[in-house]
Amino acid sequence: MKHFNELGLAEPILRAISDEGYSQPTPIQAQVIPLMTDGQDIVGIAQTGTGKTAAFVLPLLNRIHARRQRPAQKTCAALILAPTRELASQIADSIRTYASNMRVSVTVVLGGVKPGGQIRALARGTDIIVATPGRLLDHVQTGAVKLDATETVVLDEADQMLDLGFMPTIRKILARLPEQRQTVLLSATMPKQIRSLADDFLNQPAEVSVAPQSRPIERIEQSVMHVERHQKRDALVGILRSEKVERAIVFTRTKRGADKVCEFLQKAGINSGAIHGNKSQPQRERTLSDFRQRKTKILVATDIAARGIDIDGVSHVINFELPNVPEAYVHRIGRTARAGKSGVAISLCEHAERGLLRDIERLIGNSVQRDGVVEVPVAAESQEEQAPKQSRPPRHENRGNGDAGSDKPRRRRPKWRRGKSKNNNQGRGQSGDAPRQRLAS
Ligand code: AMP
Repeated sequence: MKHFNELGLAEPILRAISDEGYSQPTPIQAQVIPLMTDGQDIVGIAQTGTGKTAAFVLPLLNRIHARRQRPAQKTCAALILAPTRELASQIADSIRTYASNMRVSVTVVLGGVKPGGQIRALARGTDIIVATPGRLLDHVQTGAVKLDATETVVLDEADQMLDLGFMPTIRKILARLPEQRQTVLLSATMPKQIRSLADDFLNQPAEVSVAPQSRPIERIEQSVMHVERHQKRDALVGILRSEKVERAIVFTRTKRGADKVCEFLQKAGINSGAIHGNKSQPQRERTLSDFRQRKTKILVATDIAARGIDIDGVSHVINFELPNVPEAYVHRIGRTARAGKSGVAISLCEHAERGLLRDIERLIGNSVQRDGVVEVPVAAESQEEQAPKQSRPPRHENRGNGDAGSDKPRRRRPKWRRGKSKNNNQGRGQSGDAPRQRLAS
């Protein structure tokens, strides 16, 4: 493994990295930094948590440090596009950290806030713009910024930009950049449309990949609680009160769902904040900052708002509802077990979500097979529940081979985790049993 001082980085950058406590480059950094320094285009498959931000930020800073020349008015030397405002702000924070010993101008261009401040900052000329695509295109079209002197463009979390419908906007932005430029495209997965974006806009890119697609982070202890819809709130409160929850992110599928979960947690005396696409930018920033500063312990979020967020010390991810898209599961649970720590991910799965669970298991199962773990089919293991008589049962209620007398939520390690850590069974068993006992009482 290389050391940072073998990667040709300038002294002020090396000092900042060392102040951050990084001793060695992560695999993506060891691959991407030399390629970017050589000026190559890159297509990279990398999830958050791999150190990919520093992988593209450090060589950008190195180039800016070497140039020692201010960018002309309304231009930028480097452009980073990110899918969400939170991720863009987080990238800008990382740039400021890694550039703490040098002079670099960074402009953050986000939707949801007044454009005046951004227009004034862009007018001065800026070394690095970090932007969400929609607002950046607005500024390009009104002439507030010109991209004809931009040397490097980084597309971060390209697959999420695709999911959010940004592809046409990204194509328009890329078309405004000079032909002679470096393009770096990073994505957690590589769907066809991203591949074709790379074919259309990248020049003989080097391909790097640091983790097999969709493989969950090994340090996360994953489990499923089979509950009915009406039991989910109690189950959630139970987990949050009993597990060793340092800080948790609770995921819902919808914005309204996030608000409702947040409300009942508040009523239960659990300090929480909700973050989703309907909240204004200042609200989103306040909620995130309260969570970061540990003023609130629980963040309730939709997928859109939470992907890519890097907050240390998130001990638990709770899927209050399973995601419709199985890949989102991998992104969600990746909010825990960051910076080398371990983490716990618990999914509350109601009957109607069994299909979603199976999709997730199929996705994750591929990577388990590579580990040579023998799997048990879901159907044989499934522990069906029946809702109590007074509640309306979900449509498929009585089809399973159920544990008919029980209204207890069941928690089990999903099949992709079973058999992986026999020597750890005791600890797992204890934490796994606790919510079950509590909910039954
Ligand atoms: P990212 O994948 O960019 O979201 O980074 C995930 C986390 O890894 C962040 O908290 C970084 O501060 C941290 N990190 C990045 N590079 C290194 C490194 N070389 N050594 C240790 N931690 C790192």
